[in-house]
Amino acid sequence: MTDIVVDRIVKRFGAFTALDDLSIRFADGEVACLLGPSGCGKTTLMRIIAGLETPDSGRILFGGRDVTAKATSRRNVGMVFQYPVMYPTLSVAENIELPLRQDRSIDAAERERRVAEMLDILDMRDLANAFIEDLDAGSRQKVAVGRAVARRSEIVLFDEPTTNVEVNAKLQLIRAFKTVVQRLRQTIVYVTHDQTEAMTLADQIALMREGRISQYGPPHELYNNPSAEFGGWFLGNPGMNFAPAVLGEGVIRSPLLVEPLTAPAGLSGRAKLTIGVRPEWIEMQATASNATVAGVLVDQAIGIAGRYLTKVDVGEAIVKVKTNARPPVAVGERVHLIVPRDRALLFADGQRAPL
Ligand code: ATP
Repeated sequence: MTDIVVDRIVKRFGAFTALDDLSIRFADGEVACLLGPSGCGKTTLMRIIAGLETPDSGRILFGGRDVTAKATSRRNVGMVFQYPVMYPTLSVAENIELPLRQDRSIDAAERERRVAEMLDILDMRDLANAFIEDLDAGSRQKVAVGRAVARRSEIVLFDEPTTNVEVNAKLQLIRAFKTVVQRLRQTIVYVTHDQTEAMTLADQIALMREGRISQYGPPHELYNNPSAEFGGWFLGNPGMNFAPAVLGEGVIRSPLLVEPLTAPAGLSGRAKLTIGVRPEWIEMQATASNATVAGVLVDQAIGIAGRYLTKVDVGEAIVKVKTNARPPVAVGERVHLIVPRDRALLFADGQRAPL
């Protein structure tokens, strides 16, 4: 069992703190994606797990063993980078075989078997004898994946492997990645700034912000239940709406709420309150009812992946609304929105508060 424990890691570059007392556990056999905006520390964390970077303090444990002081070569991790190091004059099969040759316990027959298995998983049998320099970026990256996992190290680290791969090849690469993951059940940490990729690949997403973990959980949990405004804003296309809310006489009012909500116990009157709701959770109709809040359509709808995205001014806030059908009214006209009660999330000073 090889889980990865990151225990109170601090990493500074000069006066800048890249990782700020960060702790997290990546479970055995799961795919964890490190997701977050540029500069939040994803690559630094991955490099510390790999042993390519030394933390200022804190520990890294693999399956309970403290590897903090161990060199990369002694950590037995496979790695795939944005720009894979490959041997252009060797064939696909030879590139996959190379790291296996470094392990004396694997004999020639076993090497051959593993290379064949890898070519099979990657759907690259036809390219076994092709030279790396003749492959496109996507196929090269597939070979890099094969090479990283063929040794069956229990931990494999990926740093933005699809960044330089064009869209079609990216899908193929992701498919190959999923097959590898299902077949080999290694513990995988995968760095990406692409939320769709993280949503597709991850068992768990670690959402990072400014050197810390903002939230860690399954993709649907992060999407539906953000623990902070940051998660609501960062995930989604576009991200969550936030409308101001006020606390008074034990209830919370907001232009997005058709009825005031009972305030949770202990909510501070001084906290900045917002109601968060995702654009696709809001329904839109031309007529008012006792379940609707009124607004004015302020933007032409644009199509996104078969849906319509528009904006509605509800007073004090302009909310994005994503619907399956075109808006029922024209720009400048009144429209009525339904925000389901269980979809309205409360945040106090940017952090989720229970409702
Ligand atoms: P990106 O998605 O842009 O790759 P990231 O989340 O992977 O971002 P890191 O590469 O981990 O971010 O960098 C985190 C912060 O640490 C950044 O502000 C970066 O400039 C800084 N940093 C990283 N490596 C070094 C270094 N060797 N020297 C100085 N600063 C560094």
